[in-house]
Amino acid sequence: MPKDHRAQPAPAHPFPEAPKPGEVLEVAPGLLWLRFKLPFALNHVNVYLIEDGAGWAAVDTGIGDDLTREVWESLFAGPLKGRPLTRLILTHHHPDHMGSAGWLSEKFGIPVHMTETEYFMGRYLGTGHDAVHGDAHRIFYQNHGMTESGAAAVTGRGHMYLEMITGLPSSFHALEPREPFEIGGRTFQVHTGGGHSWNQAMLHCEDETFFIAADQVLGRITPNISVHSVQPDGDPLGRYLDSLASLRAAIPDGTLTLPGHDLPITHLHQRIGELIAHHDERCDIVLNACRDKVLSCAEITPILFTRQMDEHMFSFAFSETLAHVNRLLREGRLVDVGEPDGPRFRSA
Ligand SMILES: [Zn+2]
Repeated sequence: MPKDHRAQPAPAHPFPEAPKPGEVLEVAPGLLWLRFKLPFALNHVNVYLIEDGAGWAAVDTGIGDDLTREVWESLFAGPLKGRPLTRLILTHHHPDHMGSAGWLSEKFGIPVHMTETEYFMGRYLGTGHDAVHGDAHRIFYQNHGMTESGAAAVTGRGHMYLEMITGLPSSFHALEPREPFEIGGRTFQVHTGGGHSWNQAMLHCEDETFFIAADQVLGRITPNISVHSVQPDGDPLGRYLDSLASLRAAIPDGTLTLPGHDLPITHLHQRIGELIAHHDERCDIVLNACRDKVLSCAEITPILFTRQMDEHMFSFAFSETLAHVNRLLREGRLVDVGEPDGPRFRSA
């Protein structure tokens, strides 16, 4: 769930004005920044085009709706001057990033590049045989203290996914961190990381010091880190923190960082530090809440997220809360006291 979190004032943004939908902004020679609208509270997504021979390799596509398609068509007719897309690099399977992939790959007859996990997750959810609808999943949320209707709100989310995507082609190219990735004469190092999604892909162009960060590092909001019923004891927060540490070690500070949402930044290391501190603080809130009381995850959720929430918002907040709970269980700082109704937690 996005929230403002600034420990220190951020340095000035290198590109303080985002392009409007239908416009392009050249952030480096042969590197274009595009924006598409989203029908959510987070109302936009960034897409980047990298010059690739006679056309453009697109990093992400926007969601799979009519408005996004119209904006793409106006871009092809206008600012892109009829130059085609050559391939799609999809950072992760979330619909705001790859929703229009099926349509674009068919339109241009072009391949997609993704990490294996993201491709198979996207294909799996795209079949509609989404395992999160079963009774076992509903019971999982209820055992964690969620109401029946609250559990139904979470397990209903999968239906929405199908409405926001145009599919994926039946084959793909795997993005691998160990292989350099060439686009139009540029060489990129692929980075991958879990936490926000299963194994998100990012691209670092060391020679020109820019880094396409997807949703792993965002300048203003904190990426959503959630546990879902498909992997009840998963530790996405641990994976996310590991990924941030390895990005900080691999990518020099000052690198132009091009995120999936909001504005580009250059204070990459400061921002990574803020994101780590943010999750530390959130873990402390959970620990304090469970200091004198035994609580379910559903009871911890409104302590961590104090604003008014409808059932839908609550279900997102719950999944994020469980990410912090599972991290703390791993660290031995929280224990599950094992009540018959389901998991109940107290500080160790
Ligand atoms: Zn995402």
